[in-house]
Amino acid sequence: MASDDLDREVWSEARELVASAAALVRELVEEGVGGFERLADAVPPAQNTQRTPSAPVPPTPRPRATPPFAARPTRPVEPNPLAVRASGGLAPTLESVRAELGDCRRCGLCEGRQQIVFGDGNPRAEILFVGEGPGEQEDRTGLPFVGRAGELLTQMIEKGMGIRRADVYICNIVKCRPPGNRNPLPPEVSACRPFLDGQITAVAPKVIVTLGKPAASLLLDREIPITRLRGTWHEYRGIPLMPTLHPAFVLRQYTPENRRAVWQDLKAALERARA
Ligand code: SF4
Repeated sequence: MASDDLDREVWSEARELVASAAALVRELVEEGVGGFERLADAVPPAQNTQRTPSAPVPPTPRPRATPPFAARPTRPVEPNPLAVRASGGLAPTLESVRAELGDCRRCGLCEGRQQIVFGDGNPRAEILFVGEGPGEQEDRTGLPFVGRAGELLTQMIEKGMGIRRADVYICNIVKCRPPGNRNPLPPEVSACRPFLDGQITAVAPKVIVTLGKPAASLLLDREIPITRLRGTWHEYRGIPLMPTLHPAFVLRQYTPENRRAVWQDLKAALERARA
C-alpha cells in the first residue's frame, strides 16, 4: 500500500475511534457513571507498546477527581402541567404553584424535613436565583438562603448588585432539605422539578442566575464544569441564564479570585436584566 493511502487509512481509523470514544463517554455520563480510569492504567503496558509511532492517538477521557452531580440532570420537562392545571389553564402564579405543591410527599425528602422551603422574594423579579436545596437553617425557618451562605448571597445582591434582596426571587431545585446536606438524588430532583419550572414560569424573570454546579447542570441538562463555564451566557427556555459559583463554595474558598468572579457574573446579570 502506498504511503499516502496508509496515512489516509490510519487517519480514518483514528477518526472512527475518537467518534466511538466520544459516543461511549456520552452514554456513560447519561448512565450516571461518575469517573473513568485513565486509559494508560486500564490497558496492560504490553499493549501500549504496540502503537505505530506516527498514528494519531485518540484522546484519553480525563479522570474526574470527584463524582459528578449526584442528582444527574433530568431532561427538560414540558410546560409545567401541574401549575397550569392549578391555575385553571391560565399561566401559573407563585400562589397556584405553591397550592399545587401542598404538603408535598412526592419524594423521600419529605420524611426528614421540618418544613417546605418554597422560595422567597419578588414575584415579578427581574432576576431569579436557583440554588440546590435547603440547609439546616432554611429547613428551620422555611426561607431559602438564610444560613452563612445566604448571608453572603444577600451581601452579593445588596452590596454587589446594589439592589435589595427582596427585589429578586430565590428558590432551590428541591424544596425539602436533603439529610446531612447531601446532594438531592435523581428521583427527588425529578419529583420536585415541575415546581421549579412552575416558579420560573410564574416569575418570568429576565435573567436566571444558577448558584453552583447542580442548578446549572439541571437547567442546562448537562454536566457543567462550573469553574470553567461560570460567567458565560446560556439560555433556559428562552431566558438568559448565567451560571455562577455557589456562595457556600465561595465561603469555603474565600479567595479574591472567587469573589471577583461572582461579582463579575452578578454585574453581568444585572446589566442584562436592565438592558
Ligand atoms: S423535595 Fe419537592 S417533591 Fe420532594 S417532598 Fe419536598 S416538595 Fe415534594
